[in-house]
Amino acid sequence: MKKIAILGITGSIGGQAVSVIRESAGEYRITLASAHSDKKNLIRLAEEFRIPVLCYSGADAFSAKDLSYPCLVFQGEDALERGAKEAEYDVFLNSVVGISALKPTLIALEKGARIALSNKEMLVCGGEFVMKRAKELNSEIIPVDSEHSAIFQCLQSGKKQDVDTLIITSSGGAFRDVPISEIDSIDPLHSLDHPNWNMGKKITVDCATMVNKGFEVIEAMHLFQIPIDRIETVLHRESIVHSMVRFQDGSVVAELAEPDMRLPIAYAFSYPDRHKTPVKRLPLEMNLSFSRIDPDRYPCFYLAREIAKKGGLSGACFMSADEVLVPLYLQKKIKFSDIYRSLASVCSHFSDLGGEYSLQDVFYINEEVKKYTESMWGKV
Ligand code: MG
Repeated sequence: MKKIAILGITGSIGGQAVSVIRESAGEYRITLASAHSDKKNLIRLAEEFRIPVLCYSGADAFSAKDLSYPCLVFQGEDALERGAKEAEYDVFLNSVVGISALKPTLIALEKGARIALSNKEMLVCGGEFVMKRAKELNSEIIPVDSEHSAIFQCLQSGKKQDVDTLIITSSGGAFRDVPISEIDSIDPLHSLDHPNWNMGKKITVDCATMVNKGFEVIEAMHLFQIPIDRIETVLHRESIVHSMVRFQDGSVVAELAEPDMRLPIAYAFSYPDRHKTPVKRLPLEMNLSFSRIDPDRYPCFYLAREIAKKGGLSGACFMSADEVLVPLYLQKKIKFSDIYRSLASVCSHFSDLGGEYSLQDVFYINEEVKKYTESMWGKV
């Protein structure tokens, strides 16, 4: 039985991981779970699975006395780190949002666990740092994002030196069919109507701007150690081909499946095996389309590619600014098009971020960029 740690068990990915584990007929046991604010759900899941180590970062009181069985409870700023040190696990699913999971995930790497990576900040903000450490420790990082999981699966069919390009697909997000001139006048709530995927709020807005696709390109560059000019992106409306790899012999290998995150989660748990999942069988009577990504519609995506080229802490800057801007947009304090304008302006203000950096630098630049972005628009 594999022991699984789930950071962010009450979130969208965490919930789907729980669904995979429920369906797995005893293959997995949850040995660590964390929640940021949803104490009620954390307790409910802890009772269901009798999870021995719990981390809670909410400010309200929470202790082992709230549970009907003996367990360890960590609370406060460093709860995740203490939990990651204390618990036993084979797979560490990092599905929390933000850089707060950077340190606990590095602890899990040091402990020799497989990292099932759903958190974007790890690689967008600290890609060079994290991958260098992972290489030194010879550790496994298995992506949980559908695109990266697809690439990881496609790469199984060839050797690394025979890869020509990675091809990441993008659905185009909620506003893909709205005339560009009308997007600013649409209620931000509609940016949450993703055509194919059911996800958290922030990432759904990031899909509409295609900032998310930018993050994914940066992540792929680090995770698969391939230069940015060998990563292509295509618009693929159906979200059935999750990504592809072009090999130097001319073959393009693709992974197709229903858009259901339980599949990449299950694969990150079971790799190199494949287990049965509750994911629907893919019907093949359908048309699939692929087209170019329009730079006028998705300027954030092309900005992200420039950021990727710069390297160093540029990704951290891009991501930290976006973290401030998306809630402002959802609260109708800024327009959709302001997201791009502000990202470009923040990234040009912090222009000299290439080169080597430490873990502390990631946290420092995150704070500085947030302060600067807030100074442009006011606090969230
Ligand atoms: Mg994705």
